[in-house]
Amino acid sequence: MFNIILFGPPGSGKGTQAKTIEEKYDLHHISTGDLFRYELNNNTELGKKIKHIMEAGELVPDEITIGMLKNKILSFENPKGFLLDGFPRNINQAKELDRLLEELGEEVNVLISLDVPEEEIVKRILNRGKSSGRSDDNDENVIRGRYKVYKEQTLPVFEYYQNKSKARTVNGVGGIDEISNRILCAVEEHTKK
Ligand code: AMP
Repeated sequence: MFNIILFGPPGSGKGTQAKTIEEKYDLHHISTGDLFRYELNNNTELGKKIKHIMEAGELVPDEITIGMLKNKILSFENPKGFLLDGFPRNINQAKELDRLLEELGEEVNVLISLDVPEEEIVKRILNRGKSSGRSDDNDENVIRGRYKVYKEQTLPVFEYYQNKSKARTVNGVGGIDEISNRILCAVEEHTKK
């Protein structure tokens, strides 16, 4: 398997870039944010439980998130690999992911971090909010709160994989194709190592 973590703050373009990368490497794209939004939009029991957490821009508790991610990963027969977007969001999730992949005789191959400054993030998400219908995209305080959660809880995940020599940073500002190329180059460079 070939497993990639697409990493970066909310609004850094992970969802947009995921399409190109999953096609290129024939991976299953798993976005925990999309999985949660599906529950929310269908008003499921889980959706009702996590609604206020997502609206506040906080992290859904690990026992829910990790269980959901594991089920999703195990639901594929003979996968070529996964492109994870929005997961892991903290060190505990990263360790649980590594444990699961190890049980499968696999590993995270590379983490690609999209680097985008906070002011650009706020601008992009407010703009996305005009059409996304996401309540967490419409309130600047919530957006800045999500960025803070990213810095405090999620950024350590970068270091965790950097210490395993698996993390790469890519400039996330520019045209969509330009950034796709940067990501693909970073993945290729990493695998050649
Ligand atoms: P995203 O679309 O990745 O920005 O996720 C939207 C929201 O879903 C986040 O603000 C969290 O409330 C929740 N969420 C998504 N992924 C995770 C995760 N790995 N751990 C905890 N909460 C998550």
